[in-house]
Amino acid sequence: MNDHHVPSDGEAGEVRRFWAGLGLPGLVDVHTHFMPERVLRKVWEYFGARGPLTGGLEWPIAYRREEAERTALLREFGVRAFTAMLYPHKPGMARRLNGWAADFARRTPDCLHTATLYPEPDVGTYVREAVAAGARVFKAHVQVGAYDPADELLRPAWDVLAEAGVPVVIHCGSGPAPGEHTGPEPIARVLARHPRLRLIVAHLGMPEYEEFLDLAERYPQVRLDTTMAFTDFAEGFMPFPRRALPRLAALGDRVLLGSDFPNLPYPYVHQLHALERLGLGREWLRAVCHDNAAGLFGL
Ligand SMILES: [Zn+2]
Repeated sequence: MNDHHVPSDGEAGEVRRFWAGLGLPGLVDVHTHFMPERVLRKVWEYFGARGPLTGGLEWPIAYRREEAERTALLREFGVRAFTAMLYPHKPGMARRLNGWAADFARRTPDCLHTATLYPEPDVGTYVREAVAAGARVFKAHVQVGAYDPADELLRPAWDVLAEAGVPVVIHCGSGPAPGEHTGPEPIARVLARHPRLRLIVAHLGMPEYEEFLDLAERYPQVRLDTTMAFTDFAEGFMPFPRRALPRLAALGDRVLLGSDFPNLPYPYVHQLHALERLGLGREWLRAVCHDNAAGLFGL
């Protein structure tokens, strides 16, 4: 990537001006979705049909394009590193997804090798294998997977990940729609057993923002990703409580930029502007948009 090339027009230009204005070398986005085409098409159909897990919201996918175009666009935006958030909704699926994600990471050097898991008898084994194969981040989706993250079956997997210090982006808040096991309580049970587990709470725990801030304040390895938080879209139905802003400012070294690309219903740059308008300052933005993730992943 040629860092000196700053396009003067279009959305990519706007994104690049944002990070260049902060004096950053680019962005790190810990929450982007890449998965086998067939699976991604199903996800898009689901959003299009306003399935119950979307909260019944109108959710037009802004970047519904071919995979190569999507990776090219992230590079045009100046996203230095991103992830391949993929997740199973039933047993027997995670291993195959992990195989795909390992191959995707091999052919996509700016993607942090991602893996996933599900409560099933061999989860400890395949999580260990994925870590040995170089997985640098995991995705867990409590809402879509409809499992208890404190399920006994997951104990060996959390042990491996806590030991290896590999972060797990976990969708565990009850937004955009609650699941049987979403919310802070099951995560509190996981952390009581695995206090060093590097959980990255997706969507800032939306809508249980304050309860997940409690957990982050209690456990120094817990982080939060910004995905969708503070956007006009999210503020319209699950607003972040203004009184909690000082806590978010204080946790500035553990908040990480996430976008949900390509499944977002607004332009990518809106997530950045939504963070900027919080008014938490240039240093906070620099840390969130780049430095925290660069430190965590050793970029
Ligand atoms: Zn997501």
